[in-house]
Amino acid sequence: MKVLLIGPQGSGKSTQGRFLAQYLQVPYISTGEIFRKLSQEKVGFGQIVKTILEEGHLVDDKTTYKIVKDRLSQPDCKSGFVMDGYPRNMEQLRLFDPKFDRVIYLDVPEKEVMRRLMGRGRSDDAPKSIKTRLDLYYRQTRPLLDYYRKQGILVEVEGMGDIQTVQNEIKKFV
Ligand code: ADP
Repeated sequence: MKVLLIGPQGSGKSTQGRFLAQYLQVPYISTGEIFRKLSQEKVGFGQIVKTILEEGHLVDDKTTYKIVKDRLSQPDCKSGFVMDGYPRNMEQLRLFDPKFDRVIYLDVPEKEVMRRLMGRGRSDDAPKSIKTRLDLYYRQTRPLLDYYRKQGILVEVEGMGDIQTVQNEIKKFV
């Protein structure tokens, strides 16, 4: 099964994504993780990515879709995957559509995600970068929800509960 987790920054996608991938026995694919790893390379593209991450901007769509397409074509993704972070806008979806079976929307109010992100302390979690990323999420990523809703594959999960409760809720839909 191919599952996409979608929701604002700080909604718990990576925590839930890891659980879910383990439960479904498929890989957990996080574009954020892929880019953070790339940004540690001291030369070339790594340094460009590092700046993009620090500023809270998106890596360009063409580079992103190629990296994702390549990763999803690996043999371990044959029987499915849990995706966190792609597509992040309609253009990425147009360039490459992973053809998800299920899209799980983790719904957490903006006030709560701000609170969580401020306490997280990741290197790209400076207040200005958080604000840029949330703006991008609400403007560019959220419209994907309507697209998937129309496809009939979107399910909404209340993300405010504790980790286990949210996990149980998600399991009902896969
Ligand atoms: P967050 O959800 O808090 O932004 P992620 O780990 O999902 O954290 O992503 C971290 C960063 O990686 C993003 O701010 C962005 O720069 C980059 N990134 C992740 N996914 C994509 C994508 N699909 N397209 C472009 N950039 C991306």
